[in-house]
Amino acid sequence: MQGRVKENGSFDVIVIGCGIVGATIARELSRYTLKAAVLEKASDIPFGASRANSSMIHGGFDDSPGSAKAKFCPKGNRMYHALHEELDFKLRKFGSYVCAKGESEERHLKKLYEQGKANGAVGMEIVSGQKLREKEPNTAPDITAALWCESGAIVNNFEATLAFIDNARQNGVSLYMETAVDGLLFDESRSSVRGVSTDRGNFYAPVIINASGVYADVISRMAGDDSFIIHPTRGEYFIFDRAVGGLVTSFLFSCPSKLGKGITVAHTADDNLLIGPTSVQQTDRDNRDTTSEGLDDTLDGARRLVPGIPRNMAITTFSGVRANINTGDFYIKALDRPRGFINVAGIKSPGFTSAPAIAQHVTELIMENLGDVVKFEKDPTFVPERKHIPRFVDLGMEERQRLASSDPKWGQIVCRCESVTEAQVVEAIRRGARTVAAVKLWVRPGTGRCQGGFCSPRVVEILSRELGVSPLEITRHGGKSHMLISRTKEPLLPEKPL
Ligand SMILES: Cc1cc2nc3c(=O)[nH]c(=O)nc-3n(C[C@H](O)[C@H](O)[C@H](O)COP(=O)(O)OP(=O)(O)OC[C@H]3O[C@@H](n4cnc5c(N)ncnc54)[C@H](O)[C@@H]3O)c2cc1C
Repeated sequence: MQGRVKENGSFDVIVIGCGIVGATIARELSRYTLKAAVLEKASDIPFGASRANSSMIHGGFDDSPGSAKAKFCPKGNRMYHALHEELDFKLRKFGSYVCAKGESEERHLKKLYEQGKANGAVGMEIVSGQKLREKEPNTAPDITAALWCESGAIVNNFEATLAFIDNARQNGVSLYMETAVDGLLFDESRSSVRGVSTDRGNFYAPVIINASGVYADVISRMAGDDSFIIHPTRGEYFIFDRAVGGLVTSFLFSCPSKLGKGITVAHTADDNLLIGPTSVQQTDRDNRDTTSEGLDDTLDGARRLVPGIPRNMAITTFSGVRANINTGDFYIKALDRPRGFINVAGIKSPGFTSAPAIAQHVTELIMENLGDVVKFEKDPTFVPERKHIPRFVDLGMEERQRLASSDPKWGQIVCRCESVTEAQVVEAIRRGARTVAAVKLWVRPGTGRCQGGFCSPRVVEILSRELGVSPLEITRHGGKSHMLISRTKEPLLPEKPL
């Protein structure tokens, strides 16, 4: 997904980071005639927390009334229910249950219910354990009550993030991948920002938005704001085969503790079963390992909710890193000095849910504080809708036949586990995927039972053909992560003669 590279490009607004926050802000800005750019250091989107999370669109009952989280989460929830149609990403209206065991946890459910009402969350009801088991027969017999929230939904987080940035780009936003911001540029008196320096040169703009996730405090310090610290906190997950996706039909939370929302069990947007996450603070911002202890804890926690989860049906594990902030709440602030720098930091859960509402708020912040440097005029050519690449697996026979007769690549299955066709892979590449991981995020080859064992070579072949480069140049996720080391039957000679 490479933007139009202009050396020393000048823009009105630069967004650092293309997670869900950067992507939703970019899309919001694309409603106006201003020039915006998003700089993302990774080679595929989403990369940070937006790639590895529970994908829950929370109802909005978890946070104390008056907090930024309580303000943006229920609003974001309402927005997603409309946005998924406009932008064509998967959102399944499964609803959620917070499960309580015994009186003390039941008291907590009541607190959540009252909080939710104060925050404007809709569709809540406290139900008995028996009523829960009528809907979710595989839940534990010792769950005594549950808080049902009908507005809770689950998205495909890859599709959602890609949808926002895809639509922003259709409406003129420039996206620069593999472009890491390493400094800020100021005017002589350091009273205003002028741009950023990156490993691909300088980019200029009078407004810089810091949406860099776990790196937000590092970037903020470049602007002189060291008023918060990010504590990266890892959470580990299992994903299970679709064959056991039906163990639950909604999203189940444990009763929250000081550590957070606890282990959850969910039916995903793509009908798998997802369990996790743990919560382990770490110093390394990029460590996304899974560990045997972490995975044991995940399974133990999940079996407290659904005892019959079979470990041998797990197809993969992963972890995501939360941008926990020492000040607790989201930190969204336009600095007075240097003028033009806006922090959007500490966006931990429910950050995915809150993102579209945060994006509107950030746009208003720019209008209010920086209206003299950036002109906001509605773009009459703005197109709010976009279409995802057709999902072959979800199409009826007639539509499959229609597509295959228009282009035989629709009849060529590349990934058997997920029924992904060659035409889908080609379209993902046309929309900007450049690596095997990026193709997987766009159209899912490699997310099924075999985890890419059979389809990866085909994806490499198609990437190589479509990009006009040697298969040896194709990487899993950019950098030196090459998929192949040499052609077969060619001896690997030592670099220097022996
Ligand atoms: C385990 C876990 C479970 C969660 N579950 C949920 C949930 O169910 N529901 C929910 O609402 N929220 C959930 N969240 C929270 C949600 O995922 C985050 O709030 C959200 O994804 C944050 O988005 P972001 O854009 O701020 O950060 P990120 O997605 O981390 O994006 C930041 C981007 O900035 C880029 N970047 C960093 N530094 C630079 C640089 N110097 N130059 C250029 N680019 C840079 C990174 O590569 C990255 O792509 C969860 C989070 C985790 C970790």
